[in-house]
Amino acid sequence: MTARVLDGKAVAKQVYEEVAKAVNDRVARGGSRPRLATVLVGDDPASATYIALKQRNARNVGIESEDHRLPSSTTTEELLAVVQTLNRNDSVSAILIQQPTPKHIDMRQVVLALDPIKDVDGFHPINAGLVALGFTGGVEPCTPAGIVLLLERSGIQIEGANAVVVGRSNLVGKPTALLLLKRNATVTVCHTRTQGLANHTKAADILVCAAGHANLISREMVKPGSVVVDVSTNSVGGRQVGDLGPGVDAVAGWLTPNPGGVGPMTRAMLIKNTFEAEVRRRG
Ligand code: NAP
Repeated sequence: MTARVLDGKAVAKQVYEEVAKAVNDRVARGGSRPRLATVLVGDDPASATYIALKQRNARNVGIESEDHRLPSSTTTEELLAVVQTLNRNDSVSAILIQQPTPKHIDMRQVVLALDPIKDVDGFHPINAGLVALGFTGGVEPCTPAGIVLLLERSGIQIEGANAVVVGRSNLVGKPTALLLLKRNATVTVCHTRTQGLANHTKAADILVCAAGHANLISREMVKPGSVVVDVSTNSVGGRQVGDLGPGVDAVAGWLTPNPGGVGPMTRAMLIKNTFEAEVRRRG
């Protein structure tokens, strides 16, 4: 078997088109135009590239953006002051703090300081709590929301599926498990203390790999015909690879390319969340 492609680029394109239309319709009705504020602390070139890409993606769908650059010497208190100013700024719909921030910044305080309605990444405990409770109105974090939308738009049956998520981070693993559970999958979450990882992965109809560990999942660990989502962005010899070993594509029924699977979905969901933040704020 050669796995069918879970085409993140194609579904992300649909998302951008939908948001562009929604922004256009909103503005044509006299509604406000969404605005994304990005904050970058330090001069990491990769982070600067990501920010530029996010700003461009926003612009392409008619979302305004503003770019806040702070030196790497910025203290937690100074970053908190910027967040509070952006919270109060009525023209800003959504705030993105590019991570990783320098080590001396206390991101817990920064996340707590965000106005939950402008928390485009869904990191604030109010949003994480709403998602955990399965309530509507919370901001779903971009990567997990992107994974689930990619599955849904690809016609994958989530309800009733045995879903296994490898990884339990607050950023990816845990919220992905919650979103799959909300859609009535039977969910198992694996981590470094899991005994017999292969026994779990082999039983997965949907396997989400977010360990950040190249070659962790060999072809023998994958159920034939299953759906495999490879989230990780490991760098091996200067090339991006996920968690999958060779030959998984010959066993799985569906597979995300890496790159080109989850990454484009994550970026598209940021733009969707920005639009939705403005709708939540102003109706
Ligand atoms: P993380 O915070 O390092 O978490 C990794 C998780 O994987 C942890 O829960 C860890 O278990 C588990 N794990 C690690 N090695 C394992 C092993 N050998 N067996 C079983 N479980 C193992 O990373 P993250 O932020 O969740 O990100 C995961 C990966 O996704 C990274 O490569 C990251 O770059 C990538 N990512 C991609 C996107 C995208 O858009 N494509 C977005 C976000 C992240 P413990 O909890 O026990 O330590």
